[in-house]
Amino acid sequence: MQHQQKPPVDPSALAHRALREGAFWRAIPAYAEVDEATFLDHIWQGKHSVKTPEELFATIGTIVDPAFLNDAAEGFRRAPMAVRVSPYIIAAIDWRRPYSDPIRRQFIPVASQLLPDHPLVTLDSLHEQDDSPVQGLTHRYPDKALFLPLQTCPVYCRFCTRSYAIGPHTESVDKAALAKTPDLWHQAFAYIASRPELEDVVISGGDTFQLSPKNITTIGEALLAIPHVRRLRFATKGLAVMPMKILSDTAWVDALAGIVEKGRALGKDVMVHTHVNAPNEITWITQRATEELFRRGILVRNQSVLIHGVNDDVETMTLLVKRLSWINVHPYYVYVHDLVQGVEELRTSIQTAIDLEKAVRGTTAGFNTPLFICDAPGGGGKRDVHSFEYYDRENGIAVYRAPSVKPGESFIYVDPLAGLSPQAQARWAVPELQERMIADALAHAEGKVETPA
Ligand code: SF4
Repeated sequence: MQHQQKPPVDPSALAHRALREGAFWRAIPAYAEVDEATFLDHIWQGKHSVKTPEELFATIGTIVDPAFLNDAAEGFRRAPMAVRVSPYIIAAIDWRRPYSDPIRRQFIPVASQLLPDHPLVTLDSLHEQDDSPVQGLTHRYPDKALFLPLQTCPVYCRFCTRSYAIGPHTESVDKAALAKTPDLWHQAFAYIASRPELEDVVISGGDTFQLSPKNITTIGEALLAIPHVRRLRFATKGLAVMPMKILSDTAWVDALAGIVEKGRALGKDVMVHTHVNAPNEITWITQRATEELFRRGILVRNQSVLIHGVNDDVETMTLLVKRLSWINVHPYYVYVHDLVQGVEELRTSIQTAIDLEKAVRGTTAGFNTPLFICDAPGGGGKRDVHSFEYYDRENGIAVYRAPSVKPGESFIYVDPLAGLSPQAQARWAVPELQERMIADALAHAEGKVETPA
């Protein structure tokens, strides 16, 4: 039998290994004289984060068109999320193309790109507060709880699902309170201890990068001490936005490694979940950080958000998945963008997620292939994008059910209006027609209307 040889690999197939090298931050005027040791210092990164239009101007004012800066200043004013961007992220943006840069799109709003919200967008679209038995704890899935012990992050994402609570108040949103004090943490621990079905706890926020080493240890030990808790996940976007913390905050890494080791001794699984969305968020600094975590026995999974203009084409999503795998981060989930206020231009359709899933599957090993998920608005939890009961592509309405989470209920995700036909957009502008379209989709999902063959 003749064995077929594969042709030599095209070098473009190895693009995921080509990470940004060197002192790339020096292209930014404000960092031109910053040496490597300073740039890798997480305290310096925190102190020099950009929070206002004036700080943005002082950092990049000489390399960007003033019209863009005025546009951004108005974007800052209208955004439901406060802006906070680390020098690492500023340096990763290609300021020659600020309007289309995938990293700028995620963190710095510009007024001219904002679109009106879809009528079904709400501030807490996942209804996390409805499933919260004590402040700062969400208990939605039977065996899993989400613990939210802080409200701050090193960088604020424009599209944050938890924009109802994360970051400082903004002109348009007064933030809800989470469990930000140790007293409130103990209420959460007591609740988890009182519920024997809870085996899995996600510690999020906010971002656990912001917890002190002492508090990582306090929270980790308290949760590991609960006999029925078997799995902990520390959630941080830090690896994407400030990876140097892993290299320069030894006490934080030691505290986390200590909890991982304690967990292992008890037969319990402790992992890190991170949140990288664009392949060029990953640089040599990220690779050194993930190598350090791997060396310390700390395993990392990634949860991306599918974002228009950031990762919603096949080439970029495939590159992201392969680059994460290359640095030993498992590409676990890709979430369809939640129905978050003020970021309509960042959302994609359910169909986009379905098409991407089909294209990405098969490009690498199955365990490194992400699940494409819709977190069902209204509290249905994470559903495989393909598992809708009905999908009205013309009006952009997908109906999901979640029998193990909320039996008997239906949940609706809506595609962004900008991708719909002008006729469908006109229908969404009329409240009575909105109700009729939704009722019709629900009736189809329940099999009460026959879909033409
Ligand atoms: S890091 Fe997470 S919690 Fe913080 S703003 Fe971004 S998405 Fe929200």
